[in-house]
Amino acid sequence: MFEKVLIANRGEIALRIHRACREMGIHTVAVHSLADANAMHVRLADESVCIGPNASKDSYLNVPALLSAATITGADAVHPGVGFLSENANFAQMVEEHGMTFIGPKPEHISLMGDKIAAKEEAIRLGIPVVPGSEGGVNSDAEALKVAEKTGYPVLVKAKAGGGGRGMKVARSPEELVEGLQMAKNEAKAAFGNDDVYMEKYLDNPRHIEVQILADGQGTVVHLGERDCSLQRRHQKVLEEAPSPALNAAERERIGKIALSAMEKMGYRSAGTLEFLYQDGEFFFIEMNTRLQVEHPISEMITGVDLVREQIRIAAGMPLEFKQEDIRFEGHAIECRINAENPETFMPSPGKISDYHSPGGLGVRVDSALYSGYAIPPYYDSLIAKLVVHGQSRNECLMRLRRALEEYVIDGVETTIPLHQRLIGETDFINGDYNIHWLEKLLSGRK
Ligand code: ADP
Repeated sequence: MFEKVLIANRGEIALRIHRACREMGIHTVAVHSLADANAMHVRLADESVCIGPNASKDSYLNVPALLSAATITGADAVHPGVGFLSENANFAQMVEEHGMTFIGPKPEHISLMGDKIAAKEEAIRLGIPVVPGSEGGVNSDAEALKVAEKTGYPVLVKAKAGGGGRGMKVARSPEELVEGLQMAKNEAKAAFGNDDVYMEKYLDNPRHIEVQILADGQGTVVHLGERDCSLQRRHQKVLEEAPSPALNAAERERIGKIALSAMEKMGYRSAGTLEFLYQDGEFFFIEMNTRLQVEHPISEMITGVDLVREQIRIAAGMPLEFKQEDIRFEGHAIECRINAENPETFMPSPGKISDYHSPGGLGVRVDSALYSGYAIPPYYDSLIAKLVVHGQSRNECLMRLRRALEEYVIDGVETTIPLHQRLIGETDFINGDYNIHWLEKLLSGRK
């Protein structure tokens, strides 16, 4: 087992990884930008190294600085967390070339799934159903119009290097498609430095359902069930629940089996997530994330499996200690992503936390690096806390979530807590009756 792990990330996820390491008796090295010198992940780690100035590109995305930090502290492994370099195959490769272990999948699987066109082709090869659309990329207006004629409108133009919902444009007519193609390309170029795009049929009424996978690369693959992440704003997840209120046992088993057999065929290693859209009883693959996900805690809550601990064990070459039949699903879990943002305009609201009190009690978990007096810097993602609640039933979970949100005090900045409070009062949400467009409609007053 590793003696020292460098955590190449910040905020709540850095803390999450630190906690798993600590419980395994592993020393931790935190890295931080100048702005994060007083951050909780730095305060709790055994050692810390400043890796650069405030901007992410000069610090958390600064590969030479990270490799130097790992080398001088004598770390034997690096955990990339989520975001930043977590899906950067080159970083994974460099870590290995410097004699350390990258806690994650094989670099070739990271790069394969990072190219969403190649990922879809691979999914088809592995027997996973995909959203109908272009075969490979789309290079011209004429080509795009031809694809749309075949699938029918509306269509969605998506970026090959996509992520975070960027570089995506819906088109409901040929005119919109010609315009949307250019807009998607421009957005993709600006966001990812690559303007390759592809097309999919735009589904009108789907849910976003994803399957959590864990594979040891030694022949054992398990899934930890599904998460329903349909509550989204601008294609970004806001609240997630597990299990999905939309699936019955047979559908759950079907998608679990598809995911397992695909991962076995692929020879995948580490934690990963297969994302699907689900409509009219059918699943359509959209992408695979070759890393831990923000919403991983809800799967942990219903299975009792510590995903970060398993990632670390797998990276150290240890086989999984359980098989699919050992996984017991219990109860229901919901995660609210709490952002430092105005809950109506979603304008970021960085600043100093004047008072902080986090909820507690049975079935309540808060993953957050906040503390009273902490100043949230303006340079990074606005996610400041994940409130995760577990109950024996969905109803118990909802009641518990309501009271936990009531208890939560984060003063000094605006947060999205009021948005979550509004959500849990909505009849459709209480009934589990929502798709990926529902929240946007609610926010725009069309509901
Ligand atoms: P990203 O990598 O940018 O997150 P995804 O492919 O995972 O992109 O899609 C993000 C979200 O966009 C999905 O959860 C869904 O809400 C929406 N989306 C993606 N593809 C489609 C589609 N074909 N039809 C309708 N909505 C889609």
